[in-house]
Amino acid sequence: MSRPISAQIDLNALKHNLSRVRQYAKHSRVMAVIKANAYGHGLIHVAKAFNDIDAFALLELEAAIKLREAGIRQPILLLEGFFSRADLALIDQYRLDTVIHHEDQIAMLSDLRTERKINIFLKINTGMNRLGFTPQDGYKAIDALRNLYQTGKITLMTHLACADDPATYQEIIDQLSSFTNTFFTTNLHYSLANSAAIIQYPQAHQQWVRPGIMLYGGSPLIHKTAAELDLQPVMTVSSKIIAVQQLNTNDKVGYSGIFQANQPMQIGIVAAGYADGYPRHAPTGTPIIVNNQRTRIVGRVSMDMLAVDLTGITNAVVGSPVILWGKQLPIEEVAKAAGTISYELFCALSSRVKVITTE
Ligand SMILES: *Cc1c(COP(=O)(O)O)cnc(C)c1O
Repeated sequence: MSRPISAQIDLNALKHNLSRVRQYAKHSRVMAVIKANAYGHGLIHVAKAFNDIDAFALLELEAAIKLREAGIRQPILLLEGFFSRADLALIDQYRLDTVIHHEDQIAMLSDLRTERKINIFLKINTGMNRLGFTPQDGYKAIDALRNLYQTGKITLMTHLACADDPATYQEIIDQLSSFTNTFFTTNLHYSLANSAAIIQYPQAHQQWVRPGIMLYGGSPLIHKTAAELDLQPVMTVSSKIIAVQQLNTNDKVGYSGIFQANQPMQIGIVAAGYADGYPRHAPTGTPIIVNNQRTRIVGRVSMDMLAVDLTGITNAVVGSPVILWGKQLPIEEVAKAAGTISYELFCALSSRVKVITTE
């Protein structure tokens, strides 16, 4: 038998979460963001589960090509665009759409020899200061693109830095209205909303929304849980207890002995460690489920194992089931304890964890 850790991917939950997106943004087309191996959930089975999606977005060209080879026919947008002429030729060959965020990319596009018109999402920087043209340069870029025979449909897009935080509500409202006022006369379509903005800012819905985390059942908002938003966890990572230890007072656990028992207690050793994607920085006290009961991890997470407190847990033995996050334990709680966010835990799920899809 193989090592007992696995990730169950619930495709019905994925479809439920997509229906939540459609309820929020009734008049928008939906571009499912499936970058980073669909946030660790598995690219191809996630894409196939979204058979009625309007488009996909990711940023790995190899993954986009895999989608085409798997028979995915919807538009596929590359969120960082292309990095070389060779990439652009592949975009052309595989009928991909691309972000353009820099004038070098416009120059490369103008040199492309193609029969096809390439759809462009022109990225505007509205304050995040990662990628994109300033609104002023955006106008010039639109003109430059409109003069190229290689240009297909142009859509304007921006990415909001703080849509998850209610403290910046008014700032975002101003940012959105400044954007739509600036580009009103272009008559172009817009794509402005990630998951947080889909939920918080109907003004941001426009023609295309770009949900990521909420499709996977993670809460995009810092002040609301996924359950409160009626989002269902798609990924449940589970394992088993592979050893039970009896500790005496003052016995220590694991590397550096950072946990010390202050009374006799029983601990369980779980087949899950940071090489599986469990965060090494999760401290003693991080929640975990054993035998359907909530307890805490103790001591340092090691590469392949971690220890759990079995105090008060009934019938815990070698072979008892353990849930690291997912159904029964929101990933946000584990992420928070470890000083990170659900996104990072999802993406860190390691390739050695077998993935099982269920419907
Ligand atoms: C990742 C990403 C998204 C999705 O963001 P979520 O917060 O996961 O919904 C949307 N747009 C862009 C440009 C992204 O890079």
